Amino acid sequence: MSIRPVDVIIKKRNGKAHTMDEIEFMVNGYTRGEIPDYQVSAWLMACFLNGLNEEETFFLTRAMLHSGKTLDLSSIQKPKVDKHSTGGVGDKVSLVLAPAVAACGVAVPMTSGRALGFSGGTLDKLESIPGFKVNLTEEEFIDILNEVGYVMSGQTETLAPADKKLYALRDVTGTVEFIPFITSSILSKKLAEGAEAVVLDVKFGSGAFMRTIEDATRLAHSIVDTAGRLGRRVIAVISSMEQPLGKAVGNSLEVVESIECLRGGGPEDVVELVSVLGGLMLFCAGIVGSTSEAEAIVLDKIRNGEALERFKHSVRRQGGDVSSIENPDKLPRAALNYRVKAMRDGYVVSIDTEAIGTASMYLGAGRLRTDDSIDHACGMLIEKKIGDKVIEGETIATLHYNNPLYLEKAVQLVEKAYNIGKKSQAEFRLIHGVIDKHNG
Ligand code: URA
Repeated sequence: MSIRPVDVIIKKRNGKAHTMDEIEFMVNGYTRGEIPDYQVSAWLMACFLNGLNEEETFFLTRAMLHSGKTLDLSSIQKPKVDKHSTGGVGDKVSLVLAPAVAACGVAVPMTSGRALGFSGGTLDKLESIPGFKVNLTEEEFIDILNEVGYVMSGQTETLAPADKKLYALRDVTGTVEFIPFITSSILSKKLAEGAEAVVLDVKFGSGAFMRTIEDATRLAHSIVDTAGRLGRRVIAVISSMEQPLGKAVGNSLEVVESIECLRGGGPEDVVELVSVLGGLMLFCAGIVGSTSEAEAIVLDKIRNGEALERFKHSVRRQGGDVSSIENPDKLPRAALNYRVKAMRDGYVVSIDTEAIGTASMYLGAGRLRTDDSIDHACGMLIEKKIGDKVIEGETIATLHYNNPLYLEKAVQLVEKAYNIGKKSQAEFRLIHGVIDKHNG
């Protein structure tokens, strides 16, 4: 007898584990438009409430991965390793990391997303470079990857289409925050783009999707294990989003900061994350025997200018204006600035990073809804970070904006985001662990 959606829903409602056939039936039926939203909604909620075990998570991920095309990168004669971040505030790491790792001889096929809510998106950062094209055909994607050594583009409609549909439904049915769904969503998209291994930056804290280190670690284990069952290697880094990464938050400002990093400067935390993630990417690629050796090689490619040259090559190849990389003053700049001042003397104890991301969104850097437009020039520079001493009246953040409509709201959010205490607290720690299947 053929499977009926209602029987699959009832089975999960009753707390039973699904077979591979049942999960494939639901995923494929929904992707093809044969099972309606109301039945898949009920099924998602039943899964959310009664759980999916490791095997079911693997079945779900595999079904989503094969719901569309998978890129064939076999024509590229290099190890292919990607990096993915679960998203945060001021996270411009990909812009520095991809060219640096490509300069080390690893092909980096990278698909990225857009800013939503408090969280930024790499595609928007890239689009602040005049002319930069992020929508590539499959042929262009492979050609650029071959020629430059890395490529950055938006997700095509043909890769893991089940995720697009299921994510939209999860978003309106209260079923987003569920580790098996997040695992299958992230992995199906990433593995469909053809990388042999992925280094995953799982962020936790007030500016991250996962609020606690425990949840981030659970997600990391789930993704590493599921990838292993699919025959792919994922190594996950657990990193803190308890404060914005670097100083710049907002698209064009973040590109400027990335160029500083590629010129051998830039904020220490951005450089630290680039070297750790890059080291793991080289390690996964089998290019080096140890991650510390690999980190040194990545930093060397930045110091000797090769990473910057790769970045310029990528910008040129994807239609962007290279002169704006050579002279960042040509990148979009906001007409107006506002300095948010410290209300008292003391030390920065904590920063509500979601509030910083939300303030930046109100200034124009991000979107509340997926169809909102953004202003690439807007955002803010974080002048004081955790542990810094501040004096009353000193600037803690400089807001960059063109439209004053939401300035007051943004200022209030930033003022409230800063917790300034009398005593200096423990040092901020960025990296909290690495999860690999061998230490799983
Ligand atoms: N990011 C994704 O790509 N998918 C999720 O489900 C959550 C965060």
